Amino acid sequence: MTVNGRAIAPSATFDVVNPATGCVEAHAPECTAEVLDAAMEAAAAAQRHWRLDESARRAAMRQLADSVMQNADELSSLLQLETGKPTAVAAAEPPLCATWLEYYAAMDLPRETLQDNETALIELVHRPLGVVTAITPWNFPLALAMWKIAPALRAGNTVVLKPSPFAPLATLALGRIMGDVLPAGVVNTVSGGDDLGERMVAHRVPRMVSFTGSVAAGRNVAVSAMADLKRLTLELGGNDAAIVLDDADAEGVAASILEMAFFNTGQACVLPKRIFVPSGRYSEFVEAFAAVSAKMTTGDPKASSTVLGPLSTRPQYERVIDLVADAITGGAQVAAGGAAIEGPGFFFQPTILAKVAEGTRIVDEEQFGPALPIMAYTTVAEAIDRANRSEYGLCGSVWSADRERASTVAEQLEVGTTYVNAHGTLLPTIPFGGVKSSGIGLENGWAGLVSFTEPQVVHSSHADVAAVMGA
Ligand code: NAD
Repeated sequence: MTVNGRAIAPSATFDVVNPATGCVEAHAPECTAEVLDAAMEAAAAAQRHWRLDESARRAAMRQLADSVMQNADELSSLLQLETGKPTAVAAAEPPLCATWLEYYAAMDLPRETLQDNETALIELVHRPLGVVTAITPWNFPLALAMWKIAPALRAGNTVVLKPSPFAPLATLALGRIMGDVLPAGVVNTVSGGDDLGERMVAHRVPRMVSFTGSVAAGRNVAVSAMADLKRLTLELGGNDAAIVLDDADAEGVAASILEMAFFNTGQACVLPKRIFVPSGRYSEFVEAFAAVSAKMTTGDPKASSTVLGPLSTRPQYERVIDLVADAITGGAQVAAGGAAIEGPGFFFQPTILAKVAEGTRIVDEEQFGPALPIMAYTTVAEAIDRANRSEYGLCGSVWSADRERASTVAEQLEVGTTYVNAHGTLLPTIPFGGVKSSGIGLENGWAGLVSFTEPQVVHSSHADVAAVMGA
């Protein structure tokens, strides 16, 4: 762990498992109450200086971007070890961190003139909040941490960061790199289980919680953060629908959707997780999806031919086994895959399920794995209605040869981001967030910076000082 710019030797550790082998590969530090207090106090002390000099902040963030890239190999190999990501997916995260840092280093904090006349100059400015508690999941540990750290730092906040106990190693290494480049205490990185996250949310020092994770944990975080009115961003789960219109090319759409649906072995918030295709072409679409899926290679994450690695955690592996078995028991037909792969590690065959009814868990819940239900619809209105019948509202997509027609359908999806002939493209410039149970608030883009600030009205009266003083 890195606290106040220094490495902290742990008094206790927990195991970190390599999902490609199922074996314990490392021991990560367990953060004690004393170390957490020290991290929070260091962040609070650092923030008093960090908030003052905008150009120093920009320079430090750019230096950090360079340092992340100089250490990219170490970061991506740790990431691969603890998550089982295929090499290309693991290698993508350090450059994403650098991109986010550069993007926010260049951004100006907004300052709006509300009134400027003979009576007064009144402006709306954005102040930093103070210390931010940042909590991340195991699926994109570095990139998601940087979605928080880069705008938080740019706005003048300091951070205490905790990764998932399933994948803490790359984030702890990033913490060391940040500790070497940034002034002491500006980012403090600790590790531990969900209980540590709870203590970080309830802690008296932070003024904001930026949380990415499951809906269940997000609900608890929200209740706890509200006790002392901390500001809050929640980026939670998704169960995105993709609606394929009747004019779409089956092979092309199946290839495009599956490239996203099984990206990172199906373990991302923003992926197609429920597919709706027209009933008149149902078999054609199921066959197309099955054919593409059957060609996707699952195996050693380090092999260049590998498209899908293992599930990243044992609970997630067991959950996917469970959800697919439940669907098959409920009458679903297996068009491709359908079972775990024998041997060590948490591998599951890329799976296409046909004739899955709503009300089945794999349709109603977020599967977070390489198993995709394909459902038939009769009218587009019915498909929209069924897509919206979900507690989630992260993203959705519509696929068609007619972009305008698809846009009309896409705009009817109750989601934070709706795509046409695409799904899951995320950019530093574009605000991202969910509606309904998928979250509160936005990350990325201008909105992502503002969410790490609080507005302040600066009202400067032109009244004669003597008159004000009653002279
Ligand atoms: P999780 O909610 O189990 O854990 C996420 C993090 O929160 C971990 O660091 C965990 O230790 C911590 N945590 C758990 N309970 C907590 C509590 N009560 N208080 C404070 N911290 C707590 O999620 P996960 O299994 O690591 O990640 C998968 C989930 O994350 C999926 O639902 C996925 O959709 C979601 N996710 C969302 C986004 C997004 O941007 N919307 C991005 C990636 C992942």
